[in-house]
Amino acid sequence: MDYEPQGAKIVTPNKNVGNMPADHARNGFYGQDILSVSQFDRQKLEYIFKVAHEMRVLVERFGSADLLHGKILANLFYEPSTRTSSSFMAAMLRLGGQVIPINNVQYSSVTKGESLPDTIRTLESYSDVIVLRHPEVGAAATAAHYAANPIINAGDGVGEHPTQALLDLFTVVESLGRIDKLRVAMVGDLKYGRTVHSLTKLLVNYEVEFVFVSPEILAMPEDVLNVVREHGHSFSVTDDVNPVIGEVDVLYVTRVQKERFTDLAQYDRVRDQYVVDEALMERAKRDMIVMHPLPRINEISYGVDDDPRAAYFKQMRNGMYIRMALLAAVLGKA
Ligand code: ASP
Repeated sequence: MDYEPQGAKIVTPNKNVGNMPADHARNGFYGQDILSVSQFDRQKLEYIFKVAHEMRVLVERFGSADLLHGKILANLFYEPSTRTSSSFMAAMLRLGGQVIPINNVQYSSVTKGESLPDTIRTLESYSDVIVLRHPEVGAAATAAHYAANPIINAGDGVGEHPTQALLDLFTVVESLGRIDKLRVAMVGDLKYGRTVHSLTKLLVNYEVEFVFVSPEILAMPEDVLNVVREHGHSFSVTDDVNPVIGEVDVLYVTRVQKERFTDLAQYDRVRDQYVVDEALMERAKRDMIVMHPLPRINEISYGVDDDPRAAYFKQMRNGMYIRMALLAAVLGKA
């Protein structure tokens, strides 16, 4: 049976997560889906970053807690994942909850032709919150339409990756102490890279200057640029990282998304266009950071890993704290 994809549903009613405890009513996340970064303003971001910081302290001091004891997360991944999937699992386990991991949908009823709504309805009967990664833009919104439990978007095709953008921004604050007044360059596949779509839409909440560096065929989509324009930000577009390297505070590097290309010859032409190496880093500011959502293919050479400005392994770790904060918040325990 066909189902109609639903448009992004940004404000969702409180879902089926039990009676709302009065002291958690104010966090604004209780029972909510997390579908897009457009749901976050500065106040909500500060709240999540504060809770993520508390989660870091909790993990460093005690390793785990029983905040989500008795709660179950269904982790449903229709696309490959290492960090997002395992950090959501680690987040739930460290908070005392449990996980139903579905990382190999080929071994589930999806292979028998089960629709996304039916799979979601099934999993919500066994769990309290569902994390979904899916190749179609809008899949998380569709799932949210059918589910009574909160849905967290862990990447919907070339659309968004909101929890990645939250951990990216958290890493910027923790590393540089501020977001306002920063010059941020995004480099690589800006067309298909969902992380740069979400991060750009989140950064418009701050006074930042954008530089978009990509081959012409992988330029940032107009709808994302329009969000930047609507918020009155200035941005520049180039295909050369050399003239900008000395001027940026954040260099956000991305992989060319091979799996989104229909013509692999085209992929081969652009795959190695940008490589951040030690020579390039010599021309960068002393107090800047290099970020990457990972996995990296050839975009950052291993020689850069020991540079104190390399922030990509910090991002990975921060992903777990941000996801702990989100799970606690949507389940009313933050
Ligand atoms: N892991 C990130 C994502 O799922 C980045 C990437 O795959 O290039 O979008």
